[in-house]
Amino acid sequence: MELTPSQIDEAAAALRAGGLVILPTETVYGLAADAANARAVAAVYGAKGRPSFNPLIAHVAEVAAARRIARFDDRAERLAARFWPGPLTLVLPVLDTAAVCDLARAGLDTVAVRSPAHPLARALLRAFGGPVVAPSANRSGRPSPTTFADALGETGAAAAAGLDGGPCDIGLESTVVALLDVPRLLRPGAVTRAALEAEIGPLAEAEADARRSPGRLARHYAPELPLRLNATEPREGEVWLGFGPGFPEPLNLSPTGDPAEAAANLFSYLRAADRSGARAIAVAPIPEEGLGEAINDRLRRAAGFVG
Ligand code: AMP
Ligand code: MG
Repeated sequence: MELTPSQIDEAAAALRAGGLVILPTETVYGLAADAANARAVAAVYGAKGRPSFNPLIAHVAEVAAARRIARFDDRAERLAARFWPGPLTLVLPVLDTAAVCDLARAGLDTVAVRSPAHPLARALLRAFGGPVVAPSANRSGRPSPTTFADALGETGAAAAAGLDGGPCDIGLESTVVALLDVPRLLRPGAVTRAALEAEIGPLAEAEADARRSPGRLARHYAPELPLRLNATEPREGEVWLGFGPGFPEPLNLSPTGDPAEAAANLFSYLRAADRSGARAIAVAPIPEEGLGEAINDRLRRAAGFVG
């Protein structure tokens, strides 16, 4: 999946011209735009059909760039030192100097920042030079794309360029932690609750107000078909997504019961289940520990169970 420098330069030029770029990250594929360019950011919301109150993450290559966007306290410094580059987003007070337009922040006085680990994402961020918004490249409410083909199928028509980085390693969106008052876990992800708490102590739950973190909206990440969770056997007309030994292939999220493998397969298997001709999707129980918290969070929202 080697890309030539000219492909990176072309993608950076597309961003500079206000265009959108399909971008691989270690979490999921993003639809990238210049975070400072309100027209480009508006085009991202338009391509996703995303409600405009849902703020976007500003992606940067280096911690130093993030410090020009947001006010870092000790906790933010510790988490960035430990987990960046990587699948962790920090929600912090925004600085006046931030090159992130109001629209990207949905008018909030806070900003979400992340430094992704994927080499192509990092190469593009360096070539472009400024912060880039890159929400998941799906239409709003649908499963996030974890392959280049899925990303093209969702929002490719709106993109001026795209970088194919192969399937995403992690397959779930970044962990989101707010450091505004007490630390809060707004969205579980591959950086687990336990790993975060080992660095900065206990995490509070997210506030109930969905406008503060719209990734927490009830129906999100959803396939077309109805979804039934914790299914110990399939009912008539259902396709069964298994987890662990003894479940039918090919839609076993992880035949060995490995949560990391299940996370990486989750969204593409939900898409495959949609195409299977079944009337509904049943998903086997997935233990809540570690990465299981993030997988079950996405499944509950995909099923429309979380308010
Ligand atoms: P996505 O870009 O699809 O990965 O989603 C971005 C996530 O970050 C969503 O859950 C947003 O609600 C959350 N987010 C972004 N900015 C903020 C913010 N300023 N305050 C709270 N949550 C935010
Ligand atoms: Mg998303």
